[in-house]
Amino acid sequence: MQNITELLTRTVGEGRILTNESMSRHTTFRIGGPADVFAVPRTIEEAGQIVRICREQSIPYYVIGNGSNLLVSDAGYRGVILQLYKNLSEISVDGETMTVQAGAMLSVMAKRALEHGLTGFEFASGIPGTVGGAVVMNAGAYGGEMKDVLEEVTVLTGESTAETVPAEELELGYRHSVIPEKGWIVLGAKFKLQKGDPGKISARMEELRLQRVAKQPLDLPSAGSTFKRPEGYFAGKLIMEAGLRGFSVGDAQVSEKHCGFVVNKGKATAEDVYRLIREVTARVWEHSGVTLEPEVKLLGEFSAQ
Ligand SMILES: Cc1cc2nc3c(=O)[nH]c(=O)nc-3n(C[C@H](O)[C@H](O)[C@H](O)COP(=O)(O)OP(=O)(O)OC[C@H]3O[C@@H](n4cnc5c(N)ncnc54)[C@H](O)[C@@H]3O)c2cc1C
Repeated sequence: MQNITELLTRTVGEGRILTNESMSRHTTFRIGGPADVFAVPRTIEEAGQIVRICREQSIPYYVIGNGSNLLVSDAGYRGVILQLYKNLSEISVDGETMTVQAGAMLSVMAKRALEHGLTGFEFASGIPGTVGGAVVMNAGAYGGEMKDVLEEVTVLTGESTAETVPAEELELGYRHSVIPEKGWIVLGAKFKLQKGDPGKISARMEELRLQRVAKQPLDLPSAGSTFKRPEGYFAGKLIMEAGLRGFSVGDAQVSEKHCGFVVNKGKATAEDVYRLIREVTARVWEHSGVTLEPEVKLLGEFSAQ
C-alpha cells in the first residue's frame, strides 16, 4: 500500500490522501474500520487520475459520497476509498435546468432550487446524501424520486473516460440503477425542474422536514431505512408486527421510534448491525413469510456472509 499511497500523494497532493482512515468518521452510522487509503480529490480530473492509478496498480477502489447508506465492516476496507463529497459540489442553474457535481449535498441543491424558484426537488431536501449517491440509489421520498427529475449523468467509465448518459439508459427503478453494475463513477448530473412559487416550495420543504423529525430517529446515528420496501408491504410495519421494536444486538437496535431504522446507540460495531439485520430478516420471514432485503450497502468482510 505504501507504493500506491506515494503515487496518489504525488498526483493529488499532501493532505488529500489519508492512510488507515477510520470509516466511522465518514458514515452516518458512525461505524466502520480503517480504509487502507482514503482519497479526497478536489477536481474531476484528480478523481479520474486516482481511478486510473488504482486500475493500473490492480488496487481495489470504492467510491462514497456522504456514507449515509453504507455499513462498512469493522475490519475496514483493503484498498482505496474515493470520497466525492463537498470538495466536488459546484451547482449551476440555467433556466429550469440545474447542473450539479456529484459531491453536492441534496439539501444544498434543494436550497438552491428554492432560491431560483424551481419546484420538483422538494422531496429530496431532507435526504442526507450527495447527488452522486442519490443518483446511484435512485433515492426517493414522499412520492418523489431522482428518476422524476434527472435528465442525464456524467460518469467516469472503467476506461477512465468521462461520458454523458441519458437518464433513460440508467434503468432507474426502486433504489436501483445500472451504475454499480457498469462500474461507473458519477461525476455530475443534470436535472430538469419547473418554475414554481417560492412560498409554496419553502412550505413543502418545511412540511417534509417536520414529518421526518416526527417519525424518524434523527437523534441517533443510522443509515436511514435499513431495508428496502417489499412490494405491497412496509418493512417497518412488518418488523414491528414481528415484535422486534427495540430489539438489540450489542449497541445496534431496531429504533423504538421507527422500526424501519436500525440505530447505533453508541458503540455498535458493524458486526452488531449485520447480525441484527440477519436476525430481523429471519424473524420477519418466520412471522409473515416476507423476505426483507437490505437497502443499506455493505462494504468489506462480514461474518458468514
Ligand atoms: C437519517 C437518514 C434518512 C434517510 N432518508 C432517505 C430517504 O428518505 N430516501 C432515500 O432514498 N434514502 C434515504 N437515506 C439513505 C441515503 O441518504 C441515500 O441512499 C443517499 O442517496 C445516499 O447518498 P450518499 O452520498 O450518502 O451515498 P453513500 O452512502 O456514500 O453511497 C451509497 C452507494 O452509492 C455509491 N456512490 C456514492 N457516490 C457515488 C458516485 N459519485 N458514483 C458512483 N457511486 C456512488 C456508493 O458506492 C454506495 O454503493 C437516509 C439516510 C439517513 C441517514
